[in-house]
Amino acid sequence: MVYAAALDDAQSMGTEELQTALDVKTINAASVAHWLENERGRVVRNYERASNRCVHKDWTCVAQPASFAALAAAGRASLGAAPAVFAAWHHDLVTFTKTFAFEQLRLAAVFPTASNETDVFSDIEWTGESLPDRTFAVTFDDGPTAVGGTTDQTLALLKTLNKSAAFFLLGVRLEKRVAHDGTVAVASLYGKQCVASHGWEHHSHATWDDWQGSVTRTKELLSATFQPNSILPLFRPPNGQRRGDSGAFFASESLHVALWNIDAYDWNRAMDADAVAGRVTTLILLRRHGVVLFHDIYGNALSALPTIFARLGHVIDWLDCHRLARL
Ligand SMILES: [Zn+2]
Repeated sequence: MVYAAALDDAQSMGTEELQTALDVKTINAASVAHWLENERGRVVRNYERASNRCVHKDWTCVAQPASFAALAAAGRASLGAAPAVFAAWHHDLVTFTKTFAFEQLRLAAVFPTASNETDVFSDIEWTGESLPDRTFAVTFDDGPTAVGGTTDQTLALLKTLNKSAAFFLLGVRLEKRVAHDGTVAVASLYGKQCVASHGWEHHSHATWDDWQGSVTRTKELLSATFQPNSILPLFRPPNGQRRGDSGAFFASESLHVALWNIDAYDWNRAMDADAVAGRVTTLILLRRHGVVLFHDIYGNALSALPTIFARLGHVIDWLDCHRLARL
């Protein structure tokens, strides 16, 4: 409800006001309108799901879920209904949802000139929204690190916590790690986790002349390193940047484009592990299903994950990574 109010405020802004708020030079009005329409639908659907278990006189169950406007109105009024003990939490949530709405709108405003995770070009691309309610997949990008680095620590943590994840590897980093450790050691390092492609180098696959070579080269190295059942037929474009007309190529390579609907922001230097855990927990409650993007090269995810699993472990179905192959 609080997020609905934040979205409602943003969508009532004029183009110039929004442009200033988002700090972008131009706004693709059609893309923003399309994203807002989808997001309003997601908010209403998710409130319906969340309110399924509403009991009589529950102060959180105050809106008529069929209407986005009613949710936004309830969001604005929710401070009045909330017990005083939630005042600080509510205050933080108002700030967070406003920031998050602008963050997403900024991405929608530049799409498709700068492509990102706010929309898909075709059925060959997904953001994880087809997953069932209360189901999330954990994914890591940009590894592997050098021996003993955060990739190794992340894999060890997942093993200890008995959790499954998909790792989207950069070809150039995998090549280095294989040269140092050998194929067998690298394959065994990842154990039962899944691997997939993040391209050869961390360049935009929308503007890089050799983007197709990047994809095929990484695919070959993955095949030469890992057992077939560890490799997901997925490509995740660095920063979500891919061409709008790339669907035919990915189809010919039997690859799907794997995006995400929760960015953990663990790459952001302004965020510490607590901030990452808070952001991901809040967005999991807001999104209710999907794919979380982490990175195994910074260490923030490593520190945040035990908190996230402890907070949500019993109410969320954490997807076995192999199931991402069939999304
Ligand atoms: Zn990346």
